[in-house]
Amino acid sequence: LVGPQEFKLLAQQFNGMSSKLKESFDHLHHSESARRELIANVSHDLRTPLASIQSFVEALEDDVIKDEETFQRYLNTIRLETKRLGGLIQDLFELSSLEANGEIFEPVPSHADELLISTLESFSFQLAEKKLQVEIELPDKLPAALMMPAQMKRVLSNLLQNAIQYSPVEGKIVLAAALEGQFLRISVTDEGQGIEAAETSRIFERFYRVDKSRSKNNGGAGLGLAIAQSIVELHGGEIGVYSTKGAGSCFWFTLPIYNSR
Ligand code: ADP
Repeated sequence: LVGPQEFKLLAQQFNGMSSKLKESFDHLHHSESARRELIANVSHDLRTPLASIQSFVEALEDDVIKDEETFQRYLNTIRLETKRLGGLIQDLFELSSLEANGEIFEPVPSHADELLISTLESFSFQLAEKKLQVEIELPDKLPAALMMPAQMKRVLSNLLQNAIQYSPVEGKIVLAAALEGQFLRISVTDEGQGIEAAETSRIFERFYRVDKSRSKNNGGAGLGLAIAQSIVELHGGEIGVYSTKGAGSCFWFTLPIYNSR
């Protein structure tokens, strides 16, 4: 038989256990609804370009198009949508392999200048097209950081792509690298539309977009920042943003520096 003191103790233990159980049920419930939402988003984003491809192919088959210009326009839409679909599948694949730890982590010491310059080069056309001015802030003698260069280029490209997309024509973008304790800090600052404070913690979620209308013209599915975050965290760094609505944003991330000793 248990006395009142022991009973009280047992009751306390039981309470502790039941609140832990409740916590794990809440967690399960949360991840289950997150999973459902993810699948709904994936299906939507795969179905939309597919439906569009299908309708344009049918129009071409029906032979209703008589002029060459319309024919080329339809063909171009099919090409663009196919490309978008391919990009989305690639993003999803990358994200799931990152999250399943399927990525082999083999970082090498690399320098920020190589990363910044090679990434910028890939965007020279888009930058010129929007007449954007780019400034690079790169102090001398920055130590190397430990990174998988192709993956880090992916991170910086995603940030730069957004900076370009949300910048006004003739706006300025600043790419900067700096030493911060044992970390290298890289940032991309734009003078674009900025982000509401309440949204800044959510934009790193998969498929989260501030402008919910997934209109055809502004591309992304909301995976770019989620991919960037996964890669940065895989490297042992952090990623974040400072932003003022209407004034611009500064996206930054850190990487552990390479200590040769
Ligand atoms: P995507 O660009 O494909 O929509 P991201 O994950 O890269 O997806 O970004 C998520 C959302 O964060 C964007 O839809 C946009 O609303 C917001 N965002 C990202 N970068 C910027 C930026 N530089 N300026 C303003 N908003 C941004």
